[in-house]
Amino acid sequence: MTLEIHTIPCLSDNYAFLCRDQATGIVALVDAPEAAPIKAALSEKGWGLDLILLTHHHYDHIDGVPELLDAYGSKVIGAQADAHRLPPLDIALAEGDAVRIGDTNGTTIDVSGHTVGHVAFYFPTANAVFTADSLMALGCGRLFEGTPDMMWESLSKLAALPDDTIVYSGHEYTAGNAKFALTIEPDNPALQARSKEIIDKRTMGIATVPSRLADEKVTNPFLRAHLPEVKSAIGMADASDVALFAEIRKRKDNF
Ligand code: ZN
Ligand code: FE
Repeated sequence: MTLEIHTIPCLSDNYAFLCRDQATGIVALVDAPEAAPIKAALSEKGWGLDLILLTHHHYDHIDGVPELLDAYGSKVIGAQADAHRLPPLDIALAEGDAVRIGDTNGTTIDVSGHTVGHVAFYFPTANAVFTADSLMALGCGRLFEGTPDMMWESLSKLAALPDDTIVYSGHEYTAGNAKFALTIEPDNPALQARSKEIIDKRTMGIATVPSRLADEKVTNPFLRAHLPEVKSAIGMADASDVALFAEIRKRKDNF
């Protein structure tokens, strides 16, 4: 493990992540929903904040930035495509661009769909991908700006990462997502088991984020729109992968 990663609950159901590169002590934050809990976590650990990585422009991912800059003078990193609606960027990135936290090297993945310009950050040596509101635990973000094609392509890129990748997503929506997923695949045993586990965790107040990509692949309906058994379960055996993804996303919007 090259990054020490801590999950910081923010607002009512957001997550931010503090990542400390073990070789250099450089500390990065992924998303800044609000400053207070992040400052509290940093002071508890005695850490500064060198970098702020932003996934997309929604207020619940960037609102804490000004106060954090005042306190720590961090450098802000985000998507070039969203530079006009993110806090001022010190480093602007696009698909495939390198992103580093100290000695830990990562890559920028364009995961447009929820917004156009949403990026994920993948750090292979840490087995970590920060997906915010693209791929979520048992779900995916609502399509506010992008098309189903765009989101399906984004999710397909994330699904191609190694199975043991840990997915750090942006919200504690998993219990609701599990209820919905069971309407799509009521007979999926892995989904049944995971749903039980999620209910237990939430009853005890335990976070369901991060999750394992391998688990998402066998249970998350939005990663399974290409599978014949899912198409048949929905009664769209002949539909394209994207058409099936769009149908599942529409059902979730109305769930
Ligand atoms: Zn969002
Ligand atoms: Fe969000």
